[in-house]
Amino acid sequence: MARIEIKNLNKVFRTELVETMALTNLSLTIEDGEFVAIMGPSGCGKSTLLNIMGLLDEPTSGEYLLCGVDVSKKTESDRTDIRKGVLGFVFQSFNLIEDLNVEENIELPLFYMGLPKAERRKRVEAAMDRVSISHRAQHFPSQLSGGQQQRVAIARAVVSKPSLILADEPTGNLDSKTSLDVIALLKSSSKRFEQTIVMITHNEEIALMADRMIRIEDGRIGEV
Ligand code: ADP
Ligand code: MG
Repeated sequence: MARIEIKNLNKVFRTELVETMALTNLSLTIEDGEFVAIMGPSGCGKSTLLNIMGLLDEPTSGEYLLCGVDVSKKTESDRTDIRKGVLGFVFQSFNLIEDLNVEENIELPLFYMGLPKAERRKRVEAAMDRVSISHRAQHFPSQLSGGQQQRVAIARAVVSKPSLILADEPTGNLDSKTSLDVIALLKSSSKRFEQTIVMITHNEEIALMADRMIRIEDGRIGEV
């Protein structure tokens, strides 16, 4: 279970020449177990918001409370622990490790959590089964189709049973049938394990599968 509360968040990217206001005074709440779709035009700040939620980036100002704790004030080592313990990521580009096969890729988060081998095996088997990839357990990412790779990425994101799953255009590289299957999988996982999901998508049909849609426009919350 993970509740998100963001208050008056600002994010400015500064380089020598330009200053970009990526997020402006943005406030939002996402409830425990909610499945939220974030939509909005390219460059409006979606990934920046997701990266901050995922503790991969820090706000310039404002508050970010995760499960009631103001995580923006935590040290880097605490943030790393929270990332490992609470979060699962699914990226558009899958981010699978080419030198590891399917089961090794899925096992990785459990390895980082320090789980014993037997427990890791049990969880990996169950996760592969849920995304119907068990028959490709020994294959490497380059030997899989896009849809299969994305299913592996989802299995890897959910295998540690994170309370918050963050997905940045998880179906961007998939055909529409595979996209719907993959999102249905994410959704069933979230309902079963009471996980909160925040997903960025450009696809209205996919967004409609979420419990709620949030539109971002020019770094602010827009009208749905
Ligand atoms: P979206 O995901 O909605 O397409 P982003 O969150 O990636 O948008 O980007 C929002 C704005 O912030 C854009 O104008 C983008 O160019 C800028 N931006 C994002 N990341 C950086 C960065 N690391 N350095 C400078 N500007 C950035
Ligand atoms: Mg983006």
